[in-house]
Amino acid sequence: MSTDAPTTDNSTDLAAAEIAWDLEPLLNGQTGDALLDASEELISSVESYRGRIGDIDAAGLAELMHLVAKLQELQGRAAYYAMLRFSENTLDPERGAAMMKIQERATPLATRLVFLELEWAAVPDAHADSLLADPQLDFCAHYLRGIRKYRPHLLTEDEEKVLTEKSVAGAGAWVRLFDEQTSSIEVRIPGALAGSDDDEAVVGIEHGLSLLQHPDREVRRTAAEAVTAGLAPGLRTRGYIFNTLLLDKRVDDGLRNYPSWISSRNLDNEASDESVQALVDAVKGRYDLPQRWYALKAKVLGIDRLADYDRSASVAADETEIGWAEARDTVLASYASFSPELADVARRFFDENWIDAPVRPGKRPGAFCAYTVPEHHPYVLLNWTGRTRDVATLAHELGHGLHAMLAREQGIFHQTTPLTLAETASVFGETVTSSALLDQLDDPGARFALLAGSLEDSIATVFRQVAMNRFEDAVHSARRNDGELSVDRFGELWIDTQSEMLGDSVELTEGYSTWWSYIPHFIGTPGYVYAYAYGQLLALSVYARYQARGDEFVPAYLELLRAGGSRSPQELGRIVDCDLEDPGFWDAGLNIVEAQLDAAAEAAEAAGRG
Ligand SMILES: [Zn+2]
Repeated sequence: MSTDAPTTDNSTDLAAAEIAWDLEPLLNGQTGDALLDASEELISSVESYRGRIGDIDAAGLAELMHLVAKLQELQGRAAYYAMLRFSENTLDPERGAAMMKIQERATPLATRLVFLELEWAAVPDAHADSLLADPQLDFCAHYLRGIRKYRPHLLTEDEEKVLTEKSVAGAGAWVRLFDEQTSSIEVRIPGALAGSDDDEAVVGIEHGLSLLQHPDREVRRTAAEAVTAGLAPGLRTRGYIFNTLLLDKRVDDGLRNYPSWISSRNLDNEASDESVQALVDAVKGRYDLPQRWYALKAKVLGIDRLADYDRSASVAADETEIGWAEARDTVLASYASFSPELADVARRFFDENWIDAPVRPGKRPGAFCAYTVPEHHPYVLLNWTGRTRDVATLAHELGHGLHAMLAREQGIFHQTTPLTLAETASVFGETVTSSALLDQLDDPGARFALLAGSLEDSIATVFRQVAMNRFEDAVHSARRNDGELSVDRFGELWIDTQSEMLGDSVELTEGYSTWWSYIPHFIGTPGYVYAYAYGQLLALSVYARYQARGDEFVPAYLELLRAGGSRSPQELGRIVDCDLEDPGFWDAGLNIVEAQLDAAAEAAEAAGRG
């Protein structure tokens, strides 16, 4: 690759080459170590409360919690700075070491605060309730209630200390090894597919997977085979890491008396086991929707039956490239059509360098938004490749960023929502963007392409994630009942749970059986994936209410975002008129997916492609 070739404005714009974030203000003019020094001083003050939490009054508790907030802000700045710098280049050993150093310092500091949670959890219910009723504690009341929900699962202070300290060299280290393994996966594709004159080009897995959107089936098949080949080295290592973490979770759940592998995640999410099961059942009950979509898609693509590598295929006749400036304008205009106030906040992400966009070697794959701390602002990481999909991803991550910005006023204890609500603003923003784009289009072919995009997002987010949840359920159960799993067994369970969703509509090739082995959620955040389905269906229901009520709905929506995580999901849902405990709640979102499917089929027909 030549680095001194002249770049034109156009190619710079297409690659978003100059769109980089500015992390330095996060450190507030200090170093990570200085921030941790300052937090350590505050910890000494907090420790003077040891043994006194049982007798504390509301004013004393408020004072204590303000101290904790301050020290968490300081630690958060140091930790996010190190993490975000590492994300820029995960292959740079200096960045990895710097991040590890901060973690190694921060963890023992955190263990010195363990007494606080334990003493607070030991306070009798009636006394805790009367304290939390005091308005002085509004800024942390929901958080403090949240700690008490773990009461039945907490161990003694000494045991908790040992577990926390050992976790850095235990589960935490395995997760990082997995990240490093997947970041260095090499996919060998024909040079022409990577814009190279050489016969072969070596690209990362993200690049390989992005070729599955290519309109040419032969390219997709080649790319899929290359990804499968790229997944082969290290497969046993990644399988071993997965096995180890499955065991670690079983041990943890056993020590803490959780009834099932998913219970601790549900408790984190403040969702009852029953409501999550109702979601999974509702989605499984509509597996006909993805099957109908893939059958339609096969027709549109002129293929008898899709293979696994066809599912992401672009249905647009011509894959146009989108420049950064155009993408920015499109997304900002969409947000403005819904709420000028939100668009103004979104504009700051572009104007004030809060986004890191271009693809770089060693950069963390995918996209994310980091909330950082309430006194600062969030950052968005993308791997911008100039595709239509990337515009949706940009709108999505900005939705997270807007949620973070509006909820900043809640402070550090209440800024973030549980996982199940964490996707609400992102999916909503993505849907508004798609819908605004649709309004501008007359051509049935272009309308179909756009509808297909929204629909595929819904299918990937709702159905694919529930199928992945079924895979997780299967491997956690198998590890608990049958012991260590071979990579073949992982593969079987992967294929079983995918086929259940896809029925006869998609042929799964043999190579596909290892494609579970690069997905970070299974490793770093077990049980996470159903939250995507939860969040997507919730967001679609919220969007349906906006469709029905128009502008008068906007204030309630903004109130929801501003509320952050200051209340339970049920209470937050009520702000926008959603009852999350109603088992029939999920049907409204699923019906929207069905309506998208009907509209897509109609547009395909009109375009002469159905
Ligand atoms: Zn998201």
